[in-house]
Amino acid sequence: MELYYIILFFILGTVLGSFYNVVGYRLPKNESIIYPKHSYCPNCHHTLSIGELIPIFSFLFQRGKCRHCHHAISFFYPFIEVLTGVLFAVSYYSFGFSYQLVISLSLSSLFSIVIVSDLTYLIIPDEVTAIVGLIIAGATFWGRGYQEGLMALGSGVLLFGIMYGIMLLGDFLFKRESLGGADIKLMFIAGLSLGTILGILVIFISSVVALPIALSLYITNKEKVVPYGPFIVFSILLLFLLKVDVNSFWQLLI
Ligand SMILES: [Zn+2]
Repeated sequence: MELYYIILFFILGTVLGSFYNVVGYRLPKNESIIYPKHSYCPNCHHTLSIGELIPIFSFLFQRGKCRHCHHAISFFYPFIEVLTGVLFAVSYYSFGFSYQLVISLSLSSLFSIVIVSDLTYLIIPDEVTAIVGLIIAGATFWGRGYQEGLMALGSGVLLFGIMYGIMLLGDFLFKRESLGGADIKLMFIAGLSLGTILGILVIFISSVVALPIALSLYITNKEKVVPYGPFIVFSILLLFLLKVDVNSFWQLLI
């Protein structure tokens, strides 16, 4: 029965992952994600039929090419579908049916959308951060009660403030925009989901993971702007899935 649900959540994740590709690509361009255009080939603009919209399988059957113009489909689409599927399955495996599952699925969804939109446009749509924040806040109030819910909101605001301070400092030191506004809003999600201490840990983990990647991109491509959003959400999700709690974290340090 357990395996049945794990597979079910994987399939649900791939279907939603397919939708998140659309959200991540179209929302920053202010294109409707439902109307009026259906999913289309970005090269020949041919509208995709139901058969071409099945997550993963369509890509495999068409051997990664558009059925009409034979233009190669980015490997990115099925990657996001598989990633979301795996994260959904792991979320269910870790938390079962609980309020934490709702949070974990929301963070997984945020991760997929942020990868697409931040890598493509260096933009994270505010709508997405807001909706995910609302769902996580709702789940926290529902699962942990009014008082802890308020505490979580407080941690979110605090982390937002800390990141805002880091941004001001960075702008002052580097004399240019160092952090995007969207990254700061993501730190609200970090505090809300993990509390203050682990939220601060997210800043460290995401910087440590992002730095070598940013350096190598700078050396190979002279890429100066590296999207930071995916690293933030990755770190939040990692700490949440590992169920790291503050007390055991302190014991590790002392
Ligand atoms: Zn095409």
